[in-house]
Amino acid sequence: MAPRNCVLCEKNKAMLKRPKTGQQICKDCFFYVFETEVHNTITDAKLFSPGDRVAIGASGGKDSTVLAYVMKTLNERYAYGLDLFLLSIDEGITGYRDDSLETVKRNQQQYSMPLKILSYDELYGWTMDSIVKQVGRKNNCTFCGVFRRQALDRGAAMLGVDHIVTGHNADDIAETVLMNIMRGDIARLGRCTSIVTQGEDTIKRSKPFKYTYEKEIVMYAYFKKLDYFSTECIYSPDAYRGHARTFLKNLEAARPSAIIDIIHSGEAFEIREEVKATQKVQQTCRRCGYMASNDLCKACTLLEGLERGMDTTGITERARKKMEAEGPAPSNLRTIPFYKRTAGSPAVMIESSPA
Ligand SMILES: [Zn+2]
Ligand SMILES: [Zn+2]
Repeated sequence: MAPRNCVLCEKNKAMLKRPKTGQQICKDCFFYVFETEVHNTITDAKLFSPGDRVAIGASGGKDSTVLAYVMKTLNERYAYGLDLFLLSIDEGITGYRDDSLETVKRNQQQYSMPLKILSYDELYGWTMDSIVKQVGRKNNCTFCGVFRRQALDRGAAMLGVDHIVTGHNADDIAETVLMNIMRGDIARLGRCTSIVTQGEDTIKRSKPFKYTYEKEIVMYAYFKKLDYFSTECIYSPDAYRGHARTFLKNLEAARPSAIIDIIHSGEAFEIREEVKATQKVQQTCRRCGYMASNDLCKACTLLEGLERGMDTTGITERARKKMEAEGPAPSNLRTIPFYKRTAGSPAVMIESSPA
């Protein structure tokens, strides 16, 4: 069969089958539709204003590498007027993160963007390697998730940025919708499809790849020959997410629109007022000043558990009770530097805790 022409431009030979639509198109048209869809997502949600300082959460993986490249491209093409930065978190995972950070350092040169690397070690005094040594491989993702979230906010505050963009793609969001349904977590289900979430104080977080398929990100990186790191984390992956992922991949194979359809279903859920009311009021952590829904933020609770030599995750109600039963926190407890951010200027970090 003779190669067909691209169904979009009708001039060039079709080079690929677009995963999202099944259309046979050429490379140039693929780049154009891919970038334009992200641009439309950004403008429809009014994500940015001219002059915004925006940090790209960069892991060296395919999603954030493509995001950095596309953000740079769109910022120039459509004159968004953004100051772009790369922000990487070094979890301290030997043989994984150290290699992927080398990729980010090359991206810094390739895209000429300033790069800030913040490590768990400097912030918490623990690396993931040392955490896994103490808690084992079962719960380590909980630590990593909580610690990464707070580290990103702090890194962003140090850079004085207004906004963090992350490489979460449509597949990730559809998976999260499914997981929240499977767990009956209705409050999270209501929030997980939002393109923007508010982080600490005034730092916005958003997902410009909300409607972008993972397969297309891989294809884009491949055809653009982007430099990225493609190894999975060496510590145990989130097993429950793995089930949602396999299920979603099977659905996608049968019907490619399944991913977008699930996101749209998630968006269409309306959360009852009673459910919204059960969400805890935000306060600030008395030990480190970060936002918290209890007396202590999640990171401080986890850190205290680690420092006391416990091997369970301190954020469960039971583990917290057990910790409290052992008496008050020792006075020489290692704490996270106190955190205070004033809008529009880089954060002030004070070494000792006021508590
Ligand atoms: Zn074409
Ligand atoms: Zn705290």
